[in-house]
Amino acid sequence: NALRAAAQNLAKQADAGVPTIFDKILSKEIPATVVYEDDKVLAFRDINPQAPTHIVIIPKNRDGLTQLSKAEERHKDILGHLMYTATLVAKQLGLDDGFRLVINDGVKGCQSVYHLHLHLLGGRQMKWPPG
Ligand code: 5GP
Repeated sequence: NALRAAAQNLAKQADAGVPTIFDKILSKEIPATVVYEDDKVLAFRDINPQAPTHIVIIPKNRDGLTQLSKAEERHKDILGHLMYTATLVAKQLGLDDGFRLVINDGVKGCQSVYHLHLHLLGGRQMKWPPG
């Protein structure tokens, strides 16, 4: 259907190196509320929050990681760094009773931005299974 075609087109563009909205956030062309930053990652508030706390954590260098399923051996360090960063941000934002990490991958995973990112969600009781 049309949605699937649009999503596949997004993925193709990202693979071709076309900048995503996250590149504009990294270059400060688009403002974002940054909550954590180091030399490798940036964490900022999601514009359409799905929980009282909803943070997006991205690698500064996409390096082919348009989506998790494109991961290669060389990405293992940054993947670990992203997940560890989530624990730092969770502590910083007081998510002491728990939180959830989500990575949407591809069309069926409902991914909409093809620059790998972790969602850190907290501040409410989560449900299982997710939608
Ligand atoms: P995905 O659907 O790819 O897993 O997640 C992309 C996320 O990026 C969505 O939750 C969406 O709300 C968020 N997002 C999209 N555009 C922007 C933006 O311009 N600023 C911020 N802060 N978040 C955005």
